[in-house]
Amino acid sequence: MFETMRSRLTLWYTGVLALVLIIFAIATYTSLARAARERADRSLADTASSLISSFADESNDEGLSSADAAAEVTRDFQFNDRQAFIFDETGRLVAASNPPAGAGDRRSWPSGLEASLTGLLEKVPPGGRLYATTGEPAEAVRVLAARAQSHARTYTIVVALSLAEQSESLAQARRAFCIAVPLALFVASFGGYFLARKSLAPVVEMGARAARIGVLNLHERLPVPNARSELGRLAQVFNDLLARLALSFEQQRRFMADASHELRTPVAIVCGESEVALAQRSARSAQEYQESLAIVHDEGRRLTRIVDDLFMLARADAGQIKPDFVNFYLDEMIGECVRAVRSLAAQRGIELQYQHPDNELLFRGDEGLIRRMVLNLLDNAIKYTPAGGQIRVSLGQDGAGYTITIADTGTGIPAGAQPHIFERFFRADRTRSRNGNTGGSGAGLGLSIAAWIAETHGGRITLDHSDQQGSTFVISLPARSKASAD
Ligand code: ADP
Repeated sequence: MFETMRSRLTLWYTGVLALVLIIFAIATYTSLARAARERADRSLADTASSLISSFADESNDEGLSSADAAAEVTRDFQFNDRQAFIFDETGRLVAASNPPAGAGDRRSWPSGLEASLTGLLEKVPPGGRLYATTGEPAEAVRVLAARAQSHARTYTIVVALSLAEQSESLAQARRAFCIAVPLALFVASFGGYFLARKSLAPVVEMGARAARIGVLNLHERLPVPNARSELGRLAQVFNDLLARLALSFEQQRRFMADASHELRTPVAIVCGESEVALAQRSARSAQEYQESLAIVHDEGRRLTRIVDDLFMLARADAGQIKPDFVNFYLDEMIGECVRAVRSLAAQRGIELQYQHPDNELLFRGDEGLIRRMVLNLLDNAIKYTPAGGQIRVSLGQDGAGYTITIADTGTGIPAGAQPHIFERFFRADRTRSRNGNTGGSGAGLGLSIAAWIAETHGGRITLDHSDQQGSTFVISLPARSKASAD
């Protein structure tokens, strides 16, 4: 029952309220009781003072004997809630007023009170006063004993006040608290429960809606009750999360579709070529077989490259590639890349120049990845530059780091395609890219991989410019790597 949040909220709320109400009731009751006792004591003190002075007046001024004065004083003492007693030094009762009017009927006025008072007499300090409460709780009386003088003898005047009325009012207060506190708690807990239910209703609705959202309806969103409230913000955050998930699902889906599309063509070529070769088995010359095998081999290599690139991107996305950072000379490594593609460029009648920096440039990074990035760009430059063209590679250093520039005099990238060239599977001209295969992936993955490598090293690749006169790509790598290498 107390599993739900609203029940637990109500329980907490009721618990805290109960504590507050109980503390409040106890504090109020205690102060009520104290005030009543103080009032009784003050009233007793007043009565005792006037009795003492009347006793003194009667015995000294009027010349009565102590016993007569005591009798006189107590005879005049008529109250319906208190009684006066006068004892002599030996503890003998000299005089007592009548019990309060109607006290015989009153259950609360104790009979034989004077007997219980004698024990108090010796405790009264000389010249001082003594307060005490005596009797059964139902008949409790508050007593004040004080010394008085008459004809050079010491008497003790005792005034007893019935606490029946006070007890009755306190009992009433107790009864009121005992009814009011549980009633308030009952009403408050019901109110609290309904309030909690009402305030948590949007959460319940959000939960129900969220439970219905799956891969197939990721476009659905949670209701936002009030964008500025906590729940509204929660729903907003959840909706943003859904939007990011939907985008990422869409990217994954496109990636899968593009990947299978790219793989389908070479696989279809391999199947087609081998089927034809098998069907014409007897009619085929050795040279025709070799040509078919060369096609199958080329497509096989192409497939291998695409699968390699896809695998690398998938691992990169999953954060599974841990770059192996080492110190190496960037100028030397770029020189090696240029040498590696020089014969390919020569075969295609392209002039390849490398503007070597004067000094050695130490860099810290994953040598294999940086090599792959530079080779990807060189490969593209060769692929898209016609015979007779030029490729210039240069490496420079500025305050912020290193800049590798690869400029070609190729066909350029159409302006509309330029913003997309770093996207996965993007190819500005699909036919041309396929036919011009010189060893790159040819699936539109080369630049995405190169961009990822640059980012992994804290740098980036930009297309500086591209038109019909050629394209220039710039790789910027931060120098922080050099600092850690020193
Ligand atoms: P691909 O494997 O098709 O070369 P990339 O990701 O390396 O894939 O390149 C994406 C597209 O960018 C290419 O298909 C091509 O249209 C364009 N491109 C890249 N580099 C060049 C370049 N140097 N000259 C002209 N076009 C280029």
